[in-house]
Amino acid sequence: AHLVAKRVRQRANWSRALAIYHDFRDGCATPLHRLRQVVDAMVVEMHAGLALEGGSKLKMLLSYVDNLPTGEENGLFYALDLGGTNFRVLRVQLAGTEGRILQQEYEEVSIPQALMVGSNEELFDFIVAELASFITREGEGFHPLLGRQRELGFTFSFPVKQTSIDSGNLLKWTKGFAIKETEYARIEPQEVQRSFKCCTSTSWNRRALLCHVVGKDVVEELQAAMGRHKLDMRVTALVNDTVGTLAGGRYWNEDVMVAVILGTGSNACYVERADAIPKWRGVLPKSGSTVINMEWGSFWSSHLPRTPVDDTLDADSLNPGDQGFEKLISGMYLGDIVRRILLKMAEEAALFGNTVPSNLFIPFILRTPDVSAMHADESADLKEVTRVLRVVFKTQASLRVRKIVVDVCDTVAGRAARLVAAGVVGILKKIGRDTVGNIDMARLKNNLAGKGRKTVVAMDGGLYEHYPKFRTYLNDTAVELLGKEAAEQVAVELSKDGSGIGAALLAASHSQYSSD
Ligand code: BGC
Ligand code: MG
Repeated sequence: AHLVAKRVRQRANWSRALAIYHDFRDGCATPLHRLRQVVDAMVVEMHAGLALEGGSKLKMLLSYVDNLPTGEENGLFYALDLGGTNFRVLRVQLAGTEGRILQQEYEEVSIPQALMVGSNEELFDFIVAELASFITREGEGFHPLLGRQRELGFTFSFPVKQTSIDSGNLLKWTKGFAIKETEYARIEPQEVQRSFKCCTSTSWNRRALLCHVVGKDVVEELQAAMGRHKLDMRVTALVNDTVGTLAGGRYWNEDVMVAVILGTGSNACYVERADAIPKWRGVLPKSGSTVINMEWGSFWSSHLPRTPVDDTLDADSLNPGDQGFEKLISGMYLGDIVRRILLKMAEEAALFGNTVPSNLFIPFILRTPDVSAMHADESADLKEVTRVLRVVFKTQASLRVRKIVVDVCDTVAGRAARLVAAGVVGILKKIGRDTVGNIDMARLKNNLAGKGRKTVVAMDGGLYEHYPKFRTYLNDTAVELLGKEAAEQVAVELSKDGSGIGAALLAASHSQYSSD
């Protein structure tokens, strides 16, 4: 009788586990008609964000990059790339028309967790100390020009409201960063609008001034830290990592029009016609175009498939209510979505036996590379899944349970990849590169607009580079949405670490010594 009772209970648990999984899977569903709604919502929000400041959750920030690299940049330039778990310093010796990059060197340093949630001064001091020591170790073949100050492009991978190419205020921290709010005032789009309403003049300068009061200028902060470390260097370009990636991609390939980061966080930027930006104030750039940092991590639409698990992940996060799209698609969160659904199944259906493995309660313990490894496991007995369950959760499970773990990974990563594809297609649609007919007509005759036959999307980030199933889902979904013919005109290309080099290139083209 005891045995029978046990079997009955196990069977009941199993059907409960399946029910939980199926509920979740249904909540994550992204059928094509739904993705098309996401594409259209993206286009609508892009227009709204370009129309006026705070017009959409999509910030559509001006980058002040009106000219992308041409290949003629010349001299020694530096870059500092900050934004994920590591920061990177690099130098590149550019050869100008003689043959592009002569030589480059970089160093990567991981950021101590305490500094990500400490004060901004501590963070910038730490970074500048590393930068200063990097400069003392300049290898052979790097030639700073005599009598010139060293110049640096600063890739800062957070939402920054720029006021020029070399200044801007942080709007908010994202990802794992949460530096004290008193240091950087937190401003939401609605609040920005509210504070604008109380000023009589709506002129651009007035707005910039107000913003300047609420947040701090990140370049000033970095320059101040350089001052404290007696480092004689000037920041000539402040760029988002997407913008750096676009610039780095364009240096080699003039068809690059869009850049997407799929890493810890996620974001996209693209080349927009200046006359299609109603919120633009002042003289339009000569090039006729500019780069828009979309900050698509904060995109939201009621068409996005969101489940109760996503709601609790958001509520427990450092930035509840923010970065809704990012929390569905980026590398920082995918593992934790998987963990949360496994935890639910463990608690409510004894998925891992009668006691819940205690590591399942630890937020962010399951990292996206492990999700990728389990998802890619094609061995008959799912060895890789066994390994991850043992190492990460200190537990083991039957083959049947291991299969369900793989299914959960597939659901979470599949949803993410398909939504990213919808986002990219939204951008292509906005710039008229989503149909075969449009593609040639959309060619503009300026240096920002891309001249070849293709539209290239420069992609960077671990999720794209190191997660093959994710990449496949993304590419396949883009073809589904665009149709085969139009998809052939679009190429997604990995642009590994383009953001650092891109920033150095933009530092070069915005050098204080350059003639224009
Ligand atoms: C930030 C973006 C950044 C992206 C990728 C997001 O969390 O808001 O500015 O481009 O991460 O690093
Ligand atoms: Mg990065």
